[in-house]
Parts: sequence; structure tokens; C-alpha cells
Amino acid sequence: MVVVMAPDATPEDVAAVVAKVESVGGEAFVSAGVRRTIIGLVGDIESFHHLNLRTLRGVADVHRISDPYKLVSRQHQADRSTVWVGPAEQQVPIGPGTFTLIAGPCAVESAQQTLEAARMAQAAGATLLRGGAFKPRTSPYAFQGLGVRGLEILADVRVATGLPVVTEVVDVRDVGVVAEHADMLQVGARNMGNVGLLQAVGDAGLPVLLKRGMTATVEEWLMAAEYIAQRGNLEVVLCERGIRTFETATRNTLDISAVAVVQASSHLPVIVDPSHAAGRKDLVVPLARAGIAVGADGLIVDVHPSPETALCDGPQALEGTELRELASAVRRIPPLLGRENAREHLRPAVVG
Ligand code: PEP
Ligand code: MN
Repeated sequence: MVVVMAPDATPEDVAAVVAKVESVGGEAFVSAGVRRTIIGLVGDIESFHHLNLRTLRGVADVHRISDPYKLVSRQHQADRSTVWVGPAEQQVPIGPGTFTLIAGPCAVESAQQTLEAARMAQAAGATLLRGGAFKPRTSPYAFQGLGVRGLEILADVRVATGLPVVTEVVDVRDVGVVAEHADMLQVGARNMGNVGLLQAVGDAGLPVLLKRGMTATVEEWLMAAEYIAQRGNLEVVLCERGIRTFETATRNTLDISAVAVVQASSHLPVIVDPSHAAGRKDLVVPLARAGIAVGADGLIVDVHPSPETALCDGPQALEGTELRELASAVRRIPPLLGRENAREHLRPAVVG
């Protein structure tokens, strides 16, 4: 059960709800968001009904939610959410009716490489820049990213291009410094179940891009999102990036059905990462098309000025012209599907 407090509810009103719930042996989890406070109730539903919580001062609504995830469930919020990323004057929407293209290098390798990749992204109509400064690599001997120097490069490139930045944080201790340099915090597949990290990004005050763990069910993924939401941060975008199956032809198996399942169960936006799913660039465009056709709210794609020299994930990186082709292929799909209310958020490609 979830109690939604009115915007003008006072801390005393919230405390009164918590006290009532605790008086019948229940637990109350308070999520103080920017716009409103939500209280998640855990315990015996029948005893909560007898409390008549709806009549308490400051209570706007009470929802019964049967899903194990509460705040991110469509039972809690029927309308799908839009998450806004970036500073007020250049906010980028991710959500229903938008086709947000996020692009950039897998890893930040140098200032020049990042700026060139960002220009390629922008020329293809991307409105957000991706790039890893902290890289959670499978091998401890592989390039681990430039760390804080990489964050500084991203912040400089943001100033040079105007593109808000999404970058991964792999350690609770780094959340503060990453949040100082980025507009959106990425939690990667390898960390999807890292509860401490989920709570820390939930507290950081920035939108979060939550990738699906490679062995996570949709329900586990939504429960991970719930950990972030429970800290009062509902600005979460989900990212399907492929799961581990018996198939070895691709690096991961892109689970496009998960996009539809998530949209039926959760109000959070969901995007697709065809690059990390495929692991090879010849499949990136077809998987991107599939992702948008199934209804994803955007794409996140690797691009690199010289993929053959990339320190990370070169085989899946597109070059500038290929990214532009991907963007134009994808833009043709929503009108074919009769998505009438589609807002166009790919900026017009720069010619030349
Ligand atoms: C990435 O996006 O750079 C990345 C490491 O992806 P994933 O966590 O999906 O493997
Ligand atoms: Mn990568």
C-alpha cells in the first residue's frame, strides 16, 4: 500500500501517518521527493484498511498495489513518466512520445577523442552524450577508465557542445564526484543489484539510467529501480542492454520483449542499448530499429572517431556516418506505426 501526501503536507502530517501505521505493527518507508512525499507501507493490508488513512490531514491518496515494486508500478502511477535530463535551459526529455538518442564513446580516452565522438553524436541528432570515466571491465587487466580526469573531460565537452552528460558510477564512494560533473548517473549491468549503490544514486539528486543486469529478470530490475525510488528519486530511466543466454552469436541477447513488459508494468521510461547487446557493429542498426519498433523511448549507442584504436568495445562502435544512418533509419519508424502523438526530439542532422 502507498500513501501519497499532498504537496502542502507538513512533516507533522507525515509523522502522524507513520505513527498510525506503526501502531498496528506495520512499517512505513518515507520517500521525500522534490514534488511530493510518498509513504510505502509494509505489513498486514487488512489492518491498514481499518486505519482510514485517507482521512488524516495531509493525505492526498492511498493506493493498494499488488506488485512487489510499488513506487515504480503503473498501479501507483497509471500515466507513463517523462524524465528530464540536464540543466534547466537545455533539458532533454526521455519518455512517451520522445525518441531520445544518447550517443558517445564507450570510454573517455582523451579530450580530443571525446570531443570528436560528441560532435559525431550531435551531428546525428543525439541530444545527450554518453561516455564512461569509470569502466567496470570484466578483466582487471583491461583499461579501467580515466576516473576523475575522465569526468573533467566530459564536463569540458558538455560546455563545448551543450550536450548534457550521462556517465557510469561504479562505487558508492564516487557518487559525489560523478554527480558534480554529470547530468545523469548510470548504474551499469554489473551493479544493478548493488543495493548500497542504488540507494546512494537515489540520494544524489540527479536522474539515473539503470541498466538491466545481464542475468536479472524484469521483476528484479524493477525492484532495483524501486530501491532508487524509495529514496525519493523517481527520475529513473530503465535500459535494456541484452541478457546472458545460451546464444553466443551476439555478446548478449537483446530482450526486446522486456521493453513491452516493462511498459505494461511500470511507468518509468525505457530505452534500448543495441551496442552492448550486439557487441558487433553490423547488428547495431537492426537492433536499434527493433528497439524503437517495440516502443522504446530512446536509444543509447556507442560511437567512436576511430573504432579500430578504441580502448574499450571498439568492435561495436559506430563511426559518424553510420550513426547518422542509424538515426535516419530509426526516425522513419514511429510514423509507420501510427504513433500520432510522437514528439520529435532528434535534432535535425547537421549536413556535411
Ligand atoms: C556501458 O554502457 O558502458 C556499459 C558498461 O554497459 P553495461 O553495464 O550494459 O555492460
Ligand atoms: Mn562498453
